[in-house]
Amino acid sequence: MKPLLLSLLLCGAAAAQPPVYWLLWFDTEDYIEPSSDDAALRLAEGLRERGVRATFKIVGEKARVLVARGRTDVLRALAAHDIGYHTEFHSIHPAPAEYLAGMGLLDGAAEFTRRERGGFLLLEKLFGMPPGCYGQPGNSWAPQVNLALRSWGVKVYMDDAGHVGFDEQPFWYGGLLYIFNLGRHTVRADLNDPARLAEAKRRWDEAVESARSRGGGVIQTYYHPTEWATSEFWDAVNFSHGANPERSEWKKPRLRTPESREQAYRIFFEWVDYVRRTPGLRIVTAREAPALFEPRDSAPPAGLARRLADSLDAHGGFSAADLLLSLLGLEPQHVDGPVRRAATTWTETEIPRPVFDRAKRDAADFIRVHGRLPDEVWLGSQCLSLADFAATLAADPGSGPVPLRRGRADFEQRIGRDAARLYNWVIHPKGFAPESLLEMARLQAWTLKPARLRR
Ligand SMILES: [Zn+2]
Repeated sequence: MKPLLLSLLLCGAAAAQPPVYWLLWFDTEDYIEPSSDDAALRLAEGLRERGVRATFKIVGEKARVLVARGRTDVLRALAAHDIGYHTEFHSIHPAPAEYLAGMGLLDGAAEFTRRERGGFLLLEKLFGMPPGCYGQPGNSWAPQVNLALRSWGVKVYMDDAGHVGFDEQPFWYGGLLYIFNLGRHTVRADLNDPARLAEAKRRWDEAVESARSRGGGVIQTYYHPTEWATSEFWDAVNFSHGANPERSEWKKPRLRTPESREQAYRIFFEWVDYVRRTPGLRIVTAREAPALFEPRDSAPPAGLARRLADSLDAHGGFSAADLLLSLLGLEPQHVDGPVRRAATTWTETEIPRPVFDRAKRDAADFIRVHGRLPDEVWLGSQCLSLADFAATLAADPGSGPVPLRRGRADFEQRIGRDAARLYNWVIHPKGFAPESLLEMARLQAWTLKPARLRR
């Protein structure tokens, strides 16, 4: 067979395969060890030479030190890639989950903006466009951040942790596209051991196979440029377990030897070369990711919302909030979950129809005015919890008194349990276990649904 014909056939085979998208991202955060600047430069240039566009999530203070050190070469190299945001100071206390643990949804969002907005605006100024995504430092995740990011115009949350997830693929949560908690679809090569490179290639192949078997999917890989410069993390040597030394007391992390540094680059680029040759692979950045998926807000098909009667969860690609809105006759739109868990106080087994009709109108008006779901729905001086209201509405026979139905909030199962484990990060104080943030995450799980790739 002629080579041209063969390659045309192979291209055809690749095109017919379900799509696999790869996001490569770097948390660019070490503002203490200057040689991490050189690592960012070398990675950005080495990837550009290979035609690979990555996403660099940059810490505000890191950008400031790059400017102060005159590293326009690094800034220029990073500008060839996509830019995301990774907080103002990353590990100087209090970290986001520390200061948000005691706050509510709305005041917490405002506080995140007060503390973190400056670095975001600096990146916008330096790179000529606002960062396209955000990810938390360590596992210092909090649900209030979603509201703040939306108000800044950010559409993508990209990171990897266990607080919330949906079948190891991207999902919508709090109105943002989450590329998060991808499980076996997060693949990395060990930079320290060439003998393990074969294993990383095998795990990549398995992830590709898994994504294709689902009809297409997303795989992510992440690193930190400082991993090529130092053998210990810049923040662990300074800010561990709540320590917060003055700037003059900051210690430099231990450097890699030149041999181990060069080996780490060799392993990485060999792995990247392997990955990028995957037939049909599309390499995308965080900013490009939303266009891969069906729009966030569309109208559910008639009848689908009835499923809330038995299970409050995402159904058919729609969130429980989407389905509740359709039952109330509201336009498809993102609305946040409730701010507080309320209990049903109505004691009868049925609700008179005029009372329930008034409650429906009141709930719809609350949602329109506040842009979020109510904590409870009032029936005179008594109330239904939001879950019981939704289940009752979904099961409403349409005439006569309305039978009260208890809601089963299955979407809460998609939120991680055990705050001590989920927030176990060397920077957080020992014993840090903000259950309040997971409770808030469960309330916001009304908004959770899978992100479905466009066909
Ligand atoms: Zn980080």
